[in-house]
Amino acid sequence: METAINKTIFEGWGLDCTRPLVIAGPCSAETEEQVMDTARRLKNTSTQIYRAGIWKPRTRPNSFEGVGVKGLKWLKQVKEETGLFTTTEVANAQHAYEALKYGVDMLWIGARTTVNPFTIQEIAEALSGVDIPIFVKNPVNPDVDLWIGSIERLQKVGITRIAAVHRGFSSFSENRYRNSPNWQIPIELKRLRPDLPMVCDPSHIAGKRSLLQEIAQKAMDLNFDGLMIETHPDPDFAWSDAKQQITPEELGTLLDNLILRKTDTGSIGFIHKLEELRGEIDRLDQELMNTLEDRMKVATKIGLVKKENSVTILQPARWDQIISKYLEEGHSKGFSDEFIRKLFMAIHQESINMQTKVMND
Ligand code: PEP
Ligand code: MN
Repeated sequence: METAINKTIFEGWGLDCTRPLVIAGPCSAETEEQVMDTARRLKNTSTQIYRAGIWKPRTRPNSFEGVGVKGLKWLKQVKEETGLFTTTEVANAQHAYEALKYGVDMLWIGARTTVNPFTIQEIAEALSGVDIPIFVKNPVNPDVDLWIGSIERLQKVGITRIAAVHRGFSSFSENRYRNSPNWQIPIELKRLRPDLPMVCDPSHIAGKRSLLQEIAQKAMDLNFDGLMIETHPDPDFAWSDAKQQITPEELGTLLDNLILRKTDTGSIGFIHKLEELRGEIDRLDQELMNTLEDRMKVATKIGLVKKENSVTILQPARWDQIISKYLEEGHSKGFSDEFIRKLFMAIHQESINMQTKVMND
């Protein structure tokens, strides 16, 4: 079992190179007591870096937007009392100056900041000459170049210790995740930039506690180096991201349950290839669904035309024509007759159902 993270890429971070590198702490610093309670309890886990949002980028106004500078004093106290490294999100140059002033050990760039080259450039310039470790979250949209571009802007001002954080991508369609993992994107980043440590943030991918273990395991199977997981002393009452936070003790259990598989390059190559192909299948299935939706809409329109002209729904000659055409085409594509019949019968039946609905409306 391999349990060491890549020592060469974490060279100079001052970390204990046990895999996974664990970054944990609340979504937001809320009170001194909450910050300290979380930190003390995290000391019983393998957490090495304590995270807490001080300035919170919220999607909608009138949500809790962070405690601001006073929270930086609490982070300092965490460091002094527990010895944990500390990190917070900086979203502009001012945040960067303040964080440096209060001795935060590492910074992270949030997903809403990585998308914006102007802001990244400003932050980079504010940090010029200060070689502080930085975690760069992926941009909210699945664009690997934008992610790399932000990392490069930071490297250009002399920052040498950078890790990428995969926190998932926004999507319009409803799915089981808060932010779709699109694993192909971090995999592609790893291919292009094998020198960068890669951390997964299951909390923001999941949006809910029940998925954290599964996502963390997947990240380990894909050979990620670390995990950033939001932890709160009383998650249900957290002031932000309550549904996805877990207690420090639950984090301990999650980490104990992880299976760290042997990660020789052969098996990683295999896992990556499989992920890539699954990504392709997902895209094609989505296209199939969209095509079926379009087809049903047209069928409904046909139903209306038939209704207006008092024509019956089932037109046997037309159905024979369709099925014969596709049986023949199916042969040339290597599909069995049974598959083509079942497929078109199911589609045809659904069309008839839609048309019947229109007729009866
Ligand atoms: C967070 O880590 O609390 C956060 C706001 O993250 P993201 O930028 O991934 O949304
Ligand atoms: Mn959060």
